[in-house]
Amino acid sequence: MIIIMERIATQEQISSVVNLLEEHGFQVIVHEGDVHTVIDALGDKTTLSPHRIEALDGVKQVKLIREPFRLASRDRKAEDTVITFDNGVKIGGANKPVFMVGPCSVEDDYEGLLEVAVAAKELGCQFLRGGAFKPRTSPYDFDGLGEKALKYLAKAKEETGLLIVTELMDATDLDLVCEYADVIQIGARNMQNFRLLKSVGKCSKPVVLKRGPASTIREFLLAAEHIMYNGNEKVILCERGIKGFDSSFTRNVLDIAAVPVIKKYSHLPVIVDPSHGTGQRYLIEPMAKAGLVVGADGVMVEVHHNPSQALSDGKQSLSIPQFKEVFSRLNSLINTLHLEKINQPSLAE
Ligand code: PEP
Ligand code: MN
Repeated sequence: MIIIMERIATQEQISSVVNLLEEHGFQVIVHEGDVHTVIDALGDKTTLSPHRIEALDGVKQVKLIREPFRLASRDRKAEDTVITFDNGVKIGGANKPVFMVGPCSVEDDYEGLLEVAVAAKELGCQFLRGGAFKPRTSPYDFDGLGEKALKYLAKAKEETGLLIVTELMDATDLDLVCEYADVIQIGARNMQNFRLLKSVGKCSKPVVLKRGPASTIREFLLAAEHIMYNGNEKVILCERGIKGFDSSFTRNVLDIAAVPVIKKYSHLPVIVDPSHGTGQRYLIEPMAKAGLVVGADGVMVEVHHNPSQALSDGKQSLSIPQFKEVFSRLNSLINTLHLEKINQPSLAE
């Protein structure tokens, strides 16, 4: 349960609530908000009735959380989480959707990366994405340039001002990746790598958490919960497609409904990745549009300066001219949706 203290609650009143909860075996986290102190209590509520807590001095409200993901839940925080970067870029809430654009892997061709970054910047995109450490299904495939790629990303950031999104695969690389990344990506295959989630939970950089290919929405939100429980509340959820039974035309099934479902049950920002979500270049535009229409806070797209030569995911990458065209149509859609606010579901369950 969640205990919201009165605005004027004293430290003694907060302590007596905490003590009572701990005496009854609850695990307690105290959040000192700007206005209210909120106490998160994890435990068996049959041992302590919420009415007893409600009766204590300084307690404004006791809320029962219906879902196992607590910190990520709308029950705990009704308003959307907005993540703000040093340069003023914001993700979530009423802010316009953001774009995370770039090659699947950062390759040993800085000029190619820069070409993508410059184009993305000129269009008004906010983030350059690119993997330095790549999870590959086959051990024989290119698995990233490591630190050299991070240095290329940093250089492209210096030239364009774009924020950097790059994947962390192993907790031992956390400090290295944090040195270069503005957003740490946790890839789909690592969505339930709980030690890795814990390590990014302890750092201060925002995290893009990609949905596991065979994960339920509840498991996805619980993975975000692991990061938040360890101290990092800046989590962006990325719907990137799940395994279907028919891979003859699409690599994955981009679960569009997951966007409004997550928005209903969680306050965290959600983005869609139609590149991995479909595996097909021609499906990027329609599925990005679908994601935006149902309320996504951003789109991640693979863009390569020469997709036919890409070392990974070329088939689901747009060339720079293709991206320019797609972007302009997505941007018109965003302006319409934004002005008319037509992407919010209005019926109750
Ligand atoms: C990627 O973003 O290039 C990537 C490997 O994504 P995912 O973890 O969703 O497969
Ligand atoms: Mn990729």
